Amino acid sequence: MEQKTALVTGAARGIGLATTKLFLEAGWSVVMVDRDAEVLQSEAAALDNATAIVCDVSDPQAVDDMAAEAVAINGRIDAVVNNAGVADFGPIEETDFARWRRVMETNLDGVFLVSQALIPALKITKGALLNIASISGLRASTLRVAYGTSKAAVIQLTKQQAAELGEYGIRANCVCPGPVRTKLAMAVHSQDIIDAYHDAIPLNRYGSEQEIAEVIVFLCSDKASYVTGQIVAADGGFESTGVGLP
Ligand code: NAD
Repeated sequence: MEQKTALVTGAARGIGLATTKLFLEAGWSVVMVDRDAEVLQSEAAALDNATAIVCDVSDPQAVDDMAAEAVAINGRIDAVVNNAGVADFGPIEETDFARWRRVMETNLDGVFLVSQALIPALKITKGALLNIASISGLRASTLRVAYGTSKAAVIQLTKQQAAELGEYGIRANCVCPGPVRTKLAMAVHSQDIIDAYHDAIPLNRYGSEQEIAEVIVFLCSDKASYVTGQIVAADGGFESTGVGLP
């Protein structure tokens, strides 16, 4: 069987790096995409079957160039994981337009642009799109006007992709992680928020990068060949409990 290739954005660290490693363990080749050149290149250099491409996913021209380069590496892309994201905890009145756009450009525009640029390649392989949203896209809170709205939009974008691309055999699914102790989360999670999450989550803890990656790789694999348009919360049961976001 030919080796499959996954493209993972935000692959330099956190959930994207864990996902990269899990794809590699499963025998896939991985194109690692991130805008942090130094960390990306150093992580990719330590991995077999992984190639780094530095790209800001919010830049349309850079994304088109990246997509062409990515397809040329192995001549195929079987899965695209739109994982690159930025965090922002701000209430409405403190979120000026520049702050709002900074979040939307990566979290929403980036998912749209990368997906669109790679649809031609996914049509050939009948591949999978996998978008990372968040429990913040499922529940409102007083602090996440831009972040939560960007993630809710990613959930709807996933459903649009599933509806439109199914006829080409392309599946599109979305994973909504609960809290994970990555650089992104720990920059905005105060001790009060950490304690509140522990109380609110039925499993009483944060998730690990590996636990999120397992769900991502499963949904991209042939084992999920009849699963599309789904929004899967990997969140220790948080979403189903009815408790509001800390
Ligand atoms: P992280 O900060 O560890 O990793 C994010 C990576 O994305 C970084 O390497 C960063 O350089 C890259 N990135 C950011 N903007 C980019 C851009 N415009 N172009 C290219 N690369 C860019 O964060 P993480 O926690 O692993 O987050 C991964 C995804 O999971 C994000 O979409 C995030 O919103 C989502 N998420 C995280 C949590 C959590 O608690 N950690 C919870 C829910 C959802």
